[in-house]
Amino acid sequence: MASGVMIVAEHRDGKIRKISLELLGVGKKLAGNLGGGLTAVLIGKGIEGLAADLGKFGAEKVYVIDNDLFASYSPDGFAAAVAAAAKQADPALILLGSSAQGKDLAPRAAAKIGTGLSSDCVDVMVDGGKVVCKRPVYSGKCFAKTVAVSSPAMASIRPNVFPAADAVNAAGAVVKVDPGVTALLSKVSEVKAAGSGGVDLTEAERIVSGGRGIKAKENFKILEDLASVIGAAVGASRAAVDAGYIDVSNQVGQTGKVVNPTIYMAFGISGAIQHLAGMRTSKVIVAINKDPEAPIFQKADYGIVADLFAVAPLMTEEFKKLLAE
Ligand SMILES: Cc1cc2nc3c(=O)[nH]c(=O)nc-3n(C[C@H](O)[C@H](O)[C@H](O)COP(=O)(O)OP(=O)(O)OC[C@H]3O[C@@H](n4cnc5c(N)ncnc54)[C@H](O)[C@@H]3O)c2cc1C
Repeated sequence: MASGVMIVAEHRDGKIRKISLELLGVGKKLAGNLGGGLTAVLIGKGIEGLAADLGKFGAEKVYVIDNDLFASYSPDGFAAAVAAAAKQADPALILLGSSAQGKDLAPRAAAKIGTGLSSDCVDVMVDGGKVVCKRPVYSGKCFAKTVAVSSPAMASIRPNVFPAADAVNAAGAVVKVDPGVTALLSKVSEVKAAGSGGVDLTEAERIVSGGRGIKAKENFKILEDLASVIGAAVGASRAAVDAGYIDVSNQVGQTGKVVNPTIYMAFGISGAIQHLAGMRTSKVIVAINKDPEAPIFQKADYGIVADLFAVAPLMTEEFKKLLAE
């Protein structure tokens, strides 16, 4: 009988991604309620060494699919690999990140396994033996609860919602899996780093974001300066993107990225519903806007009614001083 939790790990540049440690954290809490242990599946080429890192953070068993074909992400190949690992592990729940890769992989893997999926969840619990997920709907204005009726249950989890798993002094057992994939239908041929100051927007702990109020492409430099001092990623509203001030990969919102940082600073952003859809779950929101009636202030924890061109450089200087102490 299916039991326990299996997480689908992600890695980049030879390192396990933060979202995978968050999945191990939430997975550990749920595994016992689902009558089993915590396992992980790791897919790639030359990645066996990373299995130990997953063990260190609580994976009791790591199903490794190490294959030349999986040197880069392949939608059909990775879906087949997850399905093969799931067949072997027989988990009651499979967790993936609601990351760029996870958003693509989760529905494909669910279809391959023949089960349902709750996507972009902000909570997962076990109630009466059933997996219940909470997910934002209507641009985050309310939450829906979904109850898994097929097995295994599957959910993708929004990054930065759960704390990362604590390190445990253990080594996970490594189990090699052969998914029987000999050719791929599609694969990623090139990955270009997004222009968000080297920090992935969806995983960023801190985001400095600019809107139409920035007024020109070169003015984003003042936000980039602030971001580099506090180790933040740079985000933007769609108006700033449409005006050509910044690349679309930086866009936050309904048609951009969904972010969930500890702190989100919005400079010259009015707070349209479509922008809020991408950042309203941020833990602390700071709005800087010269219009005291701007809707963003209704959502902000801290508001500064002022000219952003005066405030941003001041903040940069003050943070520099504070961090130097
Ligand atoms: C289907 C659909 C999807 C969309 N998806 C997205 C999305 O994903 N993300 C998104 O952001 N938008 C999205 N939008 C657009 C959204 O409706 C808004 O138009 C957009 O968010 C507005 O961006 P903004 O706040 O930067 O610009 P504005 O609404 O023009 O606000 C600019 C703000 O800057 C302030 N300001 C100006 N100068 C200064 C200054 N010197 N100092 C301080 N403050 C100043 C102004 O007071 C104003 O509040 C979408 C719209 C549609 C219809």
